[in-house]
Formats: sequence, structure tokens, C-alpha cells
Amino acid sequence: MNAQALAKRDAVGETVEEAISHTIPSPAAPISGNSQWEKVAGRLRAQFGEATFRSWLKPIEFSGLRSGTVSLAVPTRFMREWVQTHYQDALLRAWQTEDATVRAVDVFVKPAAFDKGRQITPNVPPSSSAPMVEDIPVQPATYASRPAIHVVDAADTPSSIQLDPRFTFDNFVVGKPNELAYAAARRVAESNSVSPGGNPLFLYGGVGLGKTHLMHAIAQHIRVTNPRRRVLYLSAEKFMYEFIRSLRDKNTMEFKEQFRSVDVLMVDDVQFISGKDSTQEEFFHTFNALVDQNKQVVISGDRSPSDLDGIEERVRSRLGWGLVVDVHATTYELRLGILQSKVEKLGASVPREVLEFLAHRITSNVRELEGALNRVVAHSTLVGHGIDLESTGHVLRDLIRANDRKVTVEDIQRKVAEHFNIKLADMYSARRSRMVARPRQVAMFLAKRLTTLSLPEIGRKFGGKDHTTVMHAVKRIEELCLEDPHIREDVDLLERLMQS
Ligand code: ADP
Ligand code: MG
Repeated sequence: MNAQALAKRDAVGETVEEAISHTIPSPAAPISGNSQWEKVAGRLRAQFGEATFRSWLKPIEFSGLRSGTVSLAVPTRFMREWVQTHYQDALLRAWQTEDATVRAVDVFVKPAAFDKGRQITPNVPPSSSAPMVEDIPVQPATYASRPAIHVVDAADTPSSIQLDPRFTFDNFVVGKPNELAYAAARRVAESNSVSPGGNPLFLYGGVGLGKTHLMHAIAQHIRVTNPRRRVLYLSAEKFMYEFIRSLRDKNTMEFKEQFRSVDVLMVDDVQFISGKDSTQEEFFHTFNALVDQNKQVVISGDRSPSDLDGIEERVRSRLGWGLVVDVHATTYELRLGILQSKVEKLGASVPREVLEFLAHRITSNVRELEGALNRVVAHSTLVGHGIDLESTGHVLRDLIRANDRKVTVEDIQRKVAEHFNIKLADMYSARRSRMVARPRQVAMFLAKRLTTLSLPEIGRKFGGKDHTTVMHAVKRIEELCLEDPHIREDVDLLERLMQS
């Protein structure tokens, strides 16, 4: 990374080039070999793991790309031999996925670059002693073409600026709660034009349910299948940083152009701009400009457009014009599916009962679920024991406790209906026969006791009952527990079940 870029990083935590790396270049106008190298390096890191990457691949410096041959510099002869024997094929393959015109990879020794430029590698064209000169077509001012930007630094981590290679459609497990979101994301990724009624696509839902995963998947799918489409993915926070910087540097025109020249703009976590008026304003204009030009826009948020507080009414309503899709909380089946797919990828051997236990107990979000599985697998590797229920419970005791506090009304309704052998629908129905009314009261009682919801909120979850109905139910069950040991046993048992 050069000094200028380094200074930029200090100012805002992340450099422009990092945002740009999410811009997928067209093959007719490759943004530069350097930025391709960043992508290739990201792939190799994912493929070989951090340790190998650090030892052998990170020290490689991109030197040039000409006539289908990529030149890479390494600091020593030993490294050249090692890289050639172990990684040459992988390098070529990874490069070809970025740029199909690449035919060969040439590794040469270039000690000087590493002697003087270990910390700060100036972003100058390779010296004449280097066999090739980088071949960058001149383009109008767009993110993709600012020459000072594309730096490769031996001491930097190129993959920190990558789209997460794990976040692909293939790795996304589809179930009832996310099937619509998945289908909508696929449609954006697969169609070359904007789908009518689908612009913008607004994905919303709680933390860790796969919104970012789907957005990265769209970008990666387009990169592979239609590299001519320019895709820009960034967080709303990043959008703000870039905007503020453009104000400071007095180049807002450039900022506007950069955003408006893409085919697909994806802005993640839009709730971030709530209350930030000038950023909102700029976002609104960018957004309108793209939609008016019939460019695809994909937005994610933690709630639906109409529920976004601190966002101007006109922006909210505009966000809701296209397709608004809710990514719902996971179900047990989906969690189990995700765990199974993850176990396969890890190549780990985890007993089914442990997976069921995890799917049952870690209900908050997929990120935690994955984290739990990783912890269990890592622990077993460390201590050299197989994985069983007991060790799992032990390793995850803190997580499980945290998840236990989040009993939902839906869980309660399901468990109670199962227990009394009535239909789940009767939890919401208006039927008054004692056969269903009593279990429903038990469920209301437990909802009051085990969740933080108010009486009216609980009433709504039971098919829109009045809060006085809930209050009556709670009182009634309290009384019955005192009078009737059978009911009390039932209630105690259910309560324990819900918390276990
Ligand atoms: P969000 O952006 O909604 O907060 P993320 O997309 O960051 O959530 O997802 C959190 C983690 O869970 C990621 O590692 C992601 O890969 C994983 N994940 C979420 N949903 C799924 C799914 N349906 N299949 C596979 N992995 C998923
Ligand atoms: Mg996210």
C-alpha cells in the first residue's frame, strides 16, 4: 500500500480501493491487474488457509499482465521455486476465474522491490528491469480507474477487501423462512435487466439471518456469469464515509459519477443512515438516479422500509416501491439443514444428536449457530476427543444460557399445542371449547412469564385477542395451579421444557 493510500486508510478506516474492489470490472475494461491480483489472492487464501497464505502467497508482488501472461515477483530464489512447484497451477486457475484471457503465470525474483518497499510499496509502474509493464487501459474517471488506487502491498491483507468467498448461492441453505429472499436474490443475479416490480429489491430481517450472504452471492454470481455488469456492493456506513470524504475533498461530482456508473448497486444495512440527514439526501439522489436509469438496486435493512425510524418519509416510501422481502427467523429444520451443510464443508464428524441439540438450542441467529458448531469442532480437535452431547453442552454453556432467555411465543404455542395434543391453529382460533381454551390459556400464561412481551402484544400473537383476555388467562392459570396439582405439573413441565 502506498503512503497516500495509507493516509486514506487512517482517515476513514478503510480505503476507497477497498470499496472499489467490490466493483466487478468488465473484461473489456479490466480495472487493473493489481486489483485482479487482490481477488486472486483472496481466493488463494480461502483455498489454502491463512498459514500457507502468509508464508508463501502474501509476499508475492504483482508486477504486470501482458499478452495473457501474468508476472509475479517474489523476493528470493527459494521462494520462486517453492511457489512454482506448489502453487503455480492454483495461481493460474485462480487468475483464470478472474480473467479468462490469462494463459500463463510467470514467477520471477525481484529482490530490490522488497528491500526498499517492505512497509510502504510505492505504487509506481514496475521498473524497466521488470520483464513486463502493467497493461491498464485508460478509462474515464470511475472508481475502477483511479490509478493511485490499485496497490498491492506485501504487508497488506488483500482478502480483507474481498467479497466473502463463502457467501455464495451454493452455500446458502434454503428453507421456508428465506426461500422468498433467496428467489428474489437469484432473480437479480440471473437476469440481465431489471425485473419489473423488483427494483429496488429490499431485503430485511434480524441480525445474522443471511442478508449480507445473499448480497455477496448476487455479486459473485454476476461476476462469474456476466462480468460485464458492474456491481458495487458496500455498506450504508461505507457510503456515508465516502460521501463525507468527497465533501471534504471537494470532489462530490466524482463521487456521484462513481456511484451512478454501476449496473447494480447494493447497499447493506441501510438503517445505518437513519438520522444522518445529508447522507440520506445523497443516498436518495443516487438511488433515484439509478432506478430512473433502470439500474438494479438492492438494499438491506434490519426492518421493513416503513418501520425505518429516522429516515425521511419520501426515502422510506421510495425504498418500498419495489420488491420488499422479509428474511424470517430460522426454523428448527432450517437450522438443522445449515448445520448439516456446514459439517460437510468442514469435513468433521458430528453425531446427529449433537446437531439436533444445537439446532434446538441455538435459535437466535445463523452466525451464532455457525459459531457454536465451530467451537464444538475446534474443542474436539484440541482435546483429541470425539464430539458428544455432554462435551457440547459443556463447551457451549454460556451460549446456551444466552439463547435460553429468548423463548418466543411461537415456541411456546408449538410446545403447548404438542403437549395437549391440539392443533397449532387452535392457539390463534376463537374456539372456546375447554379442550382448546385451556391449553391456549396455559400458553398465554407462559408467554407472559417467559417473554418480555406486553399483554396486548401477547394478545396479538394469539390471533388478535384483547389484552384483557390475556390477563384473564394469566389469572386463571395461576389459580388453577394452586387448586389442581395436575395442571400445575403440566405447567411446570412445560416451563422447564421451554427453558431447557
Ligand atoms: P445478516 O447480514 O442478515 O446479519 P449474514 O448474511 O452476515 O447475516 O449471515 C450470518 C452468517 O450466517 C454468515 O456466516 C452466513 O453465511 C450464515 N448464514 C445465514 N443464513 C444462511 C443460510 N441460509 N445458509 C447458510 N449460511 C447462512
Ligand atoms: Mg449483514
